[in-house]
Amino acid sequence: MTSTPPGDMPADEFRDDGHRLVDWLAGYFQWSLDRPVLSRVEPGAIRAGLPAAAPESGEPFERILQDFERILVPGLTQWNHPGYFAYFPCGFSSPGALADFLSTAVSQQAMLWRTSPAATELEEVVLGWLRRAIGVPDGFEGVIYDTASTAVVHALAAARHEKAPEVRTRGLTGRGPGAFRVYCSEHAHSSVDKAVIVLGLGHENLRRIPADGEFRLQPDRLAAAIDDDRKAGHTPLAVVATVGTTSVASVDPVPAIADLCALEGLWLHVDAAYAGTAAILPECRWAIEGMERADSFVVNPHKWMFTPFDLSAFYCRKMDVLRAAFGLTPDYLKTPESSEVRNLMDTGFQLGRRFRALKLWVVMRYFGLEGISTRLREHLRLARLFADWVDEDAGFERVAPVLFSVVGVRALPHGLDRGDTAALNAFNERLLAALNDTGEVFLSHTMLGGRYVIRFAVGNIRTTEAEVRRAWDRLRKLAAALPPTPPP
Ligand SMILES: *Cc1c(COP(=O)(O)O)cnc(C)c1O
Repeated sequence: MTSTPPGDMPADEFRDDGHRLVDWLAGYFQWSLDRPVLSRVEPGAIRAGLPAAAPESGEPFERILQDFERILVPGLTQWNHPGYFAYFPCGFSSPGALADFLSTAVSQQAMLWRTSPAATELEEVVLGWLRRAIGVPDGFEGVIYDTASTAVVHALAAARHEKAPEVRTRGLTGRGPGAFRVYCSEHAHSSVDKAVIVLGLGHENLRRIPADGEFRLQPDRLAAAIDDDRKAGHTPLAVVATVGTTSVASVDPVPAIADLCALEGLWLHVDAAYAGTAAILPECRWAIEGMERADSFVVNPHKWMFTPFDLSAFYCRKMDVLRAAFGLTPDYLKTPESSEVRNLMDTGFQLGRRFRALKLWVVMRYFGLEGISTRLREHLRLARLFADWVDEDAGFERVAPVLFSVVGVRALPHGLDRGDTAALNAFNERLLAALNDTGEVFLSHTMLGGRYVIRFAVGNIRTTEAEVRRAWDRLRKLAAALPPTPPP
């Protein structure tokens, strides 16, 4: 028998523990700077530090927080460390974190307008703010998803529904011969593969089109692939163009791809998950040129707009098609106001939705467009600075133009033949491991045409020139000290 009365944590305890938590976090933001950016725990170590069963009696929050620090903090890879340069940095900012806490605490679930008028309408307003800031035309309606992966599933589902609405009822198997074909560049994100898999379109029906020397999809190769497919009896369905590819942040020629899509009657989805927010800057607006002719467009404020994970903004010129693809209202979700309002559950396969718009609203208000622009510009400057240092050093090679805040580099040490790709790859892999072992920075890698490339991506709100210098300094010194081939 328990002596604890039912109900939530008492209000005065919440106040004390809430203050304790914020105090702890403010301290953590400082002392964690001296901890390794990439967690050093061995696989299984975190699990081994935790009991296999839940406690029988409740425990005070303070003790749980102590265990968080002792057991879990060593297993935190520090995405919000200023020395974080891996993958695409995660959008983080303190006001964004406060907003996420607020969103959870007020416990909103915005499936229907009536289950949260505030979340539903704020989402519409704040996506309008973002749309205007980026330069997405008025005709696009927005919705917030968790990730760009979810967005591309919805884009391709809408494309399918527009072309073959009967699939909704009969499924793809009832369609007869001729597969739907989807096209993207060889450098498009793996979420496009997963989308065709989850939609039952079939992985072999995604055609990856070769890119040019600057890693951009070649429109003539796309046209040829579409032609071949038509001749083979397939049904070309959609093209995914990427603005800011994951490996090197290259930009597909969206205007030429849009021409082709218009001619062929294909859905065009523009994936600007990372680079889309750069279009807030007039000098980067060129990157999304042509997107006004796309059917859908996605940008992740959780990547490069200081908004904590997760928040992906999806804009669609034909949201009615998306609604037709996914709209389905069981009796228990019918509401009298449904003809006058937006019910967010109609814009996708998910019923429940977090109140994500709140953090975007807070971030955009706290920093303002000016504050966001200043930070984006600083990241562009830091990436160019790093690229300049690479270019001036004969021991390194830069593999792609620097359009945004990503730099791809390869070390070319003395004693290794530049034609010996395998040896160079092995050297660069060891170099990256040694760099990450310093604990001061964390970078990741990619493969480009069989070459192992070290990827340096700036995007963290706390990153300054000091960390960029440190990353370059360590990289240079380690490359000089590392034997060209591993000791036997
Ligand atoms: C990161 C990324 C994605 C996937 O992002 P999620 O929001 O994590 O699904 C898709 N496309 C591109 C170009 C990306 O860089």
